[in-house]
Amino acid sequence: MLIHDIFNWLFPKKCLMCGIEVAPDSMFCLKCFSKVTFIDYPFCATCGKMLESSYGDFTDDFLCATCQTYPRYFGKVRSLFQYDDISKNVVMKIKNHADSFVARTCAVMIFSRYKDIFRQADCLIPVPSHWSRLLKRGFNPADIIAIEFSKITNLPVYTILKRTKKTSYQKGKNICERLNNVKNAFSCPKNNELLGKTIILVDDVMTTEATLNECANTLKNYGCLKVFCLTIASTPSYKKYF
Ligand SMILES: [Zn+2]
Ligand SMILES: [Zn+2]
Repeated sequence: MLIHDIFNWLFPKKCLMCGIEVAPDSMFCLKCFSKVTFIDYPFCATCGKMLESSYGDFTDDFLCATCQTYPRYFGKVRSLFQYDDISKNVVMKIKNHADSFVARTCAVMIFSRYKDIFRQADCLIPVPSHWSRLLKRGFNPADIIAIEFSKITNLPVYTILKRTKKTSYQKGKNICERLNNVKNAFSCPKNNELLGKTIILVDDVMTTEATLNECANTLKNYGCLKVFCLTIASTPSYKKYF
């Protein structure tokens, strides 16, 4: 405990947004925390994206336009934050610095919100990076998050999903281009451990769900029964893709 206190004194935690000193177990100061957008009702029952009020009346099983149009191989996706300038700081800490404190803090919050998903799951599978990106970065961000989930839940992490095609970045592409970009991009060795299992796919950010959907499709082809997905952040649901 003393060593822990000395460590906190030597390396005080700083707000990820404004950089002022914060309590050792916090990611943000109170002012910045008040600006964080947690995913909240109304959201799509399948992809979990927050819906714009222009959608009109919502029910608990309301689906966004994308989920109404395209086949979904995952059961449902749930995320912690809306992806914006604030949550981007959180994601980048994990993506660029493999920050386990930030990953752990997010994992605890996700676990407390979506316990029902963890209760049904048999294992955790991180969305993989292509080997060339892995070589450049030195780690896979989704692995860091999955490991923190595993510490909380004792669910095993299987890094068996592989990215066989180097896909270009999804940013700036419309939904059809994104779907084509990741088509057949993943593979999984024949693995009896997956047969009939319920999986939680783990990733940092969900944009159009194309990547998560293709991963779920691959896992189901290899015998998984059900695939849930959990991400730190997700972009809002836009109608502009149609
Ligand atoms: Zn701050
Ligand atoms: Zn949706």
